[in-house]
Amino acid sequence: MSEKKHSVVVMKFGGSCLQDAKSFEQTTHNINLYKQNNKIIIVASAIKGITDKLINFYHRSCDEQPECESILEDLFITHQSVIKEIINDKKPEYKYAIDFLQNNMEELTQLGRVIGLIRPSVDIQDIIVSYGEKLSTFIVTQYLNSIGYKSEFVSSDEIIRTDDNFGRALPILDETELLVRDRVGPILESSDNIIVCVTGFYGSTKDKKITTLGRGGSDLTAAIMAYCFQPTYNCKVIYWKDVNGFLNADPRIAHKTALLKNISYLEAKELAFFGSKVLHPVCLDVNEKREIPSEIRPFEDPESNEFTIITKEIVKDDKIIKAITSIQKISMVTIASGTMVSLPGTVSKLFSLLGDNNVNIIFISQSSSENNITFGIDYEDAMKVSFLLRNSSLFGKQWFNIKIDHEISLIAVIGAGMLHTPGVAGKIFSTLGENNVNVMAIAQGSSELNITIIIERKDCTKAINVLYDAFVNNS
Ligand code: ASP
Ligand code: MG
Repeated sequence: MSEKKHSVVVMKFGGSCLQDAKSFEQTTHNINLYKQNNKIIIVASAIKGITDKLINFYHRSCDEQPECESILEDLFITHQSVIKEIINDKKPEYKYAIDFLQNNMEELTQLGRVIGLIRPSVDIQDIIVSYGEKLSTFIVTQYLNSIGYKSEFVSSDEIIRTDDNFGRALPILDETELLVRDRVGPILESSDNIIVCVTGFYGSTKDKKITTLGRGGSDLTAAIMAYCFQPTYNCKVIYWKDVNGFLNADPRIAHKTALLKNISYLEAKELAFFGSKVLHPVCLDVNEKREIPSEIRPFEDPESNEFTIITKEIVKDDKIIKAITSIQKISMVTIASGTMVSLPGTVSKLFSLLGDNNVNIIFISQSSSENNITFGIDYEDAMKVSFLLRNSSLFGKQWFNIKIDHEISLIAVIGAGMLHTPGVAGKIFSTLGENNVNVMAIAQGSSELNITIIIERKDCTKAINVLYDAFVNNS
């Protein structure tokens, strides 16, 4: 595929791209491939494994556990050894990086003490985990400067404005756009070809509290950067990953899979939402809003033709179904009652209760009799939901019968070809029926790009494979 000239290329490097000398060299190589013809913005995640360690540090600090010190020690050593490995200690950048590390470790130590004294809270957790990206990105900047590039560090709390949903915040795009253009615009405009290095994963609220964008959130940061510059530059985003792109099924489950080379934002969103962990789902929404071409490319083979490009076009190829994806472990809640469920407002009360408590609803299906409503939630949220419903002044009453099934899987059959193609659902059910898979509930997204099927977990592998053979692998 020929490379179109784009003015700004935003590149997202994940934690495994930034762990040792070899991966930093690869990172530089990938940057070089685009640097000639484009202005470059890099968005970096924390060094591999660091976010988990920081979350652990937060929890230990809350419990005032002595392990805190050894976690801090470990964090320090990991970053220090990366700096030692990649930056020549005769260069001034070496000292800048080490000093930055030391100062930030001191701050973290102080924070740990504070948490021991006050009540733990998610906003402090967000401050703590943001250090992962702050350190990695600063190190990248110093590394690039030490080998002769010009790069500038930008901490994303200065430019990414979010709501205050700590731990899973969403960007406020119009305010962010102004901040980004104000802070980063002049760097891009300068004639010096400066590489802008932006910390992934976090932003801040209007009162300057640090928020994080949810796990894998650096993808979203990259999408936001492209979004902000798309009106003035031709932007594209490259997400460097340790896979070639989106596959049409999960290789751990399906016995055959293939790479999806061209896919629309809509289809990619469905894939990301229903189980594919390749991209943060919200970043696709942001890419879609301004039609920013987005590529998922293999980090270690940057010139390979095997990658996924995501654009607006829905390629309605001969296959009705492009991909089959799944969430193996979900819980399904059924609320039944004679007529109560159908009373006006009941459903909205239900979803407000869950929404206010940060419960993510994966699918909803209501039978036409309106006597019950069924919905899917993350397996991890099941206890919380059970507690919320049983203690609610409305749903805890005897006329509601609440049932939660835990051995449930969700399969989403995805493809633009389903649009206006009659009979797809029928074929799905007959395929599953012939193979003795019992369908417990179904839901169809309004986009008509997916059909969601709820089955018992024991049938999940079989169901995916028979559907794959019937729809995807049948040519
Ligand atoms: N470091 C964060 C995480 O591990 C964000 C990211 O990797 O994108 O979730
Ligand atoms: Mg990560």
